[in-house]
Order: sequence, then structure tokens, then C-alpha cells
Amino acid sequence: MDIGCHALVWTGQFDSRGVRVAAEKTKTAGFDLIEYPLMDPFTFDTVAARSALAEYDLKASASLGLSEATDVTSSDPAVVEAGEALLIRAVDVVADLGGKHLCGVIYSAMRKYMEPVSARGLENSKRTIGRVADHAADRGVNIALEVVNRYETNVLNTARQAIMYLAEVDRPNLGVHLDTYHMNIEESDMFSPVLDAATSLQYVHVGESHRGYLGTGSVDFDVFFKALHRISYRGPITFESFSSAVVAPDLSRMLGIWRTLWTDNDDLGAHASAYIRDKIKAIDTIRLH
Ligand code: MN
Repeated sequence: MDIGCHALVWTGQFDSRGVRVAAEKTKTAGFDLIEYPLMDPFTFDTVAARSALAEYDLKASASLGLSEATDVTSSDPAVVEAGEALLIRAVDVVADLGGKHLCGVIYSAMRKYMEPVSARGLENSKRTIGRVADHAADRGVNIALEVVNRYETNVLNTARQAIMYLAEVDRPNLGVHLDTYHMNIEESDMFSPVLDAATSLQYVHVGESHRGYLGTGSVDFDVFFKALHRISYRGPITFESFSSAVVAPDLSRMLGIWRTLWTDNDDLGAHASAYIRDKIKAIDTIRLH
């Protein structure tokens, strides 16, 4: 099981220097995998990232949230087309990095919508995701749809909604991505969504209720990790945390990162890596009970 870290813990700049610093710090903090944000996969420095991954012996994954200009639930065919082109490019970047997972809010824009998704918008989303999944299958990449809270999408706010969406798109490399920060807002508990998703669960984000240090908010991580153990989850578990101390202009503003929950990211990352591994180690002993 790979324990990962979102690169925005380390830097908001993904030029050649940024991708390298993020990899070095991810390794030093004790993680196995780095998740690069691909908000703009066309300018991401894939060559620098490949070299940093090799140097620091790390695996990679990538995530993104679509924007209004690339919203695949749009009624404008040109916008949906731009979204598909961006997602296809993101799949290619993941494959070029030797990665196995592209995840995030890739089935709509990542933003607060002021109205429910339309029937036509939902159809556009499903058709696009089906085609992106087919392209990803050719490149050996899995596509995981991140279930997020109501202020960041109007399409998938609960695991059950994601399961219904998947049943209609029905691709073997398409799955669910759960995030404890969002589950804590929308789900009935931290256990049922994991069991409901079960074999469809491909990717996990571990984030605290305020997105700061793990264990200092209201997320019930004990219950969540017991649920992962119950379904024998083996996919990546990636730490996600944001503070105004490290800013990527597009992503940080969308997520509402206004406060400084930490300043020392070396300490934050080392703590998160140890925290996640400690939970997994403890829960693995349940088989002895
Ligand atoms: Mn997340």
C-alpha cells in the first residue's frame, strides 16, 4: 500500500524546480508516492518530474479539478471538448510519469454551483468520462472520481451518487475516490461509504476537517481506517493539507484556503506520514482479535 502526499503541501509552483523540491520533501517526510496537481497538464514539466521521481525513488499520481472553461457538464460543446482534451492530456502525463492513477474533480468544474446539474450536463459528463477512461485503459491508467462536498461540485457529493454514476458509465478502470475531509461534511458516517464503494474504491485522500494537522479536527480516522481494513483496500492513501503558507493561485482560491493552519511543512508532512502508518499498523492487528 502506497502512502502519498499531495505536492501542494510543499509548493504552489510546478516548474522544473517546483516538481523537484516537492519530490525531495515528499521522500524526506517518509512517503512512497507524490500526487502532482495537474490543473494545467499542458505546462506541467513532465521531464523534470520523471527525473525527480527516479532520483528520489518515488511513485507518482495526479489529480485536478476542472475549471469553468473546461467544465464537462457545460451545455456548450466547445467547453466540454476543451475539458476532454485537458483530461486526455492529464492521462498522458500520468502515464509518462509511470503513474497508475488520475483522480480528482474531473467530472465537472471544481467550484460552487448556484444550480443543480442539468440532465444534459450530466450526460455530457458521463460521455466524456467514458471516453477518457477508454483512453486511460490504453495507457494503463485508472480514473477515480473524487466525491467532494456541495460547495465544490453539484454532481458527486456522496459515495452512493458516485456508485450510481459508475454503474452507468461502466468501465473496468473507472472507480471511486473518497476524501475524509469531504466525507466528514456530506456522509452519514466514515464507515458506510467505504463499504458501499468496496471494490470500486481506487483512491483515498486523508484530510482533516480544517485541512490542517491530522488528528486535530473532527474527522474520525479510527473508524475510517477500520473501514479500509474491512474491505482489504490496497490502493494509494494520500495526505492532503492546505495552508495559506503555500499557495497555488488557481487551486488555493477555489478551495478557500484563507488561513494559516501550519507554516512548517516538513514537520506537517513527517507527522502525517507517521500518523497514517501508525493507524494502518494498529488496525492490521485486528486480525489477531
Ligand atoms: Mn481531496
